[in-house]
Amino acid sequence: SEQRTLLCSITLYGPDNRLILFRDNTRIHHLEQMSKDFVANVSHELRTPLTVITGYLETLAHSVEIMPQPPVPVLPKAVGQMQSQSHRMSNIIDDLLTLSKLETADSQQDIQPVSLPLLINTIVEDAKSLSGNKNHKIIFNCAHEDQILGNKKELRSAISNLIFNAVKYTPEGGNISIRWTVSLNTGYLTVKDDGIGIDPQHIPRLTERFYRVDKSRHASTGGTGLGLAIVKHVLLRHDATLLIKSRPGRGSSFTCQFPHSRLVKKAA
Ligand code: ADP
Repeated sequence: SEQRTLLCSITLYGPDNRLILFRDNTRIHHLEQMSKDFVANVSHELRTPLTVITGYLETLAHSVEIMPQPPVPVLPKAVGQMQSQSHRMSNIIDDLLTLSKLETADSQQDIQPVSLPLLINTIVEDAKSLSGNKNHKIIFNCAHEDQILGNKKELRSAISNLIFNAVKYTPEGGNISIRWTVSLNTGYLTVKDDGIGIDPQHIPRLTERFYRVDKSRHASTGGTGLGLAIVKHVLLRHDATLLIKSRPGRGSSFTCQFPHSRLVKKAA
C-alpha cells in the first residue's frame, strides 16, 4: 500500500557494489502509535477518578481542620500527604496529556506571530510567586523586537517549564536571567541560572520522559520529570533546537534556537 511504501527505508546495492536493503518499518511505526495511544487513553481515563478523589479529600481536609480531636492522631498528616500526592499525580497526568497532544496535533494549527515581552513578563510574575521566600532575582532582557511564528500556548508551556526549573533548581537568593536576542538570522531565547547545575553525564538524557538527575529531590521540587520532554517537543514543532550548558554548583543555561523561517519583524 502507499502507507507501507512510505514507511520503508531503502538502501541500494547498485552497479558500483552498493547494498540494496528494504526494511519495512510499518510494524515498528504501528507499535509506537499503539504505545502513544495507550498512554493518552490511560491518562485521560485516570483524570475523572482523580478529580473525584481530590474533591472528597478537600472536604475531608476541611473537616479534619475543624475537628477538636481527630479520631486517630495520624489523620491530619495522612490527609495532607494524600492531598499533595494526588496533586502530584494530577500534574503528571496533565503533562502526559500535553505531551501526547504535542505528538499528535497538527503543528500548523493556531500559528501566529508571538511577541515575547508580554508572554515572558506574565511567566516571570508566576515564577516570582513560585520562588516565594527564596527571593530570587529574576531579570528579563529583551534585546530584539522580532516575534516568533508559532503556537502561543505551546511556547508559553515550553518557556514556563524552563523558567520554573530555574526557580526550582536555584537556591535562595540566586539569579535567573532570561534573554531574547536575534543574531545572524537566528533567534536565541536563553534561560540562565546560577543554581545547582547538572553533571555533564546527565545532559544528553535530560529531555527523556521521566529522566531526573536526582530522583530523591522530586519530593521537594514537586516536578513531574516531563518538563524538558515537553520543551523538546514544542521546539521540534517550531523547527527549533535546545542547547543545554551547565556546570555542577555553578548553574545552567538552556537556549532555544529559532531559525530565520520562524522570525517575524514586528509591524511598525
Ligand atoms: P522535573 O519535573 O524533574 O523538573 P524536567 O524534565 O523539567 O523535570 O527536568 C529534568 C531534570 O533536569 C530535573 O529533574 C533536574 O534534575 C534537571 N534540571 C532541569 N532544569 C534544571 C536547572 N535549571 N538546573 C539544574 N537542574 C535542572
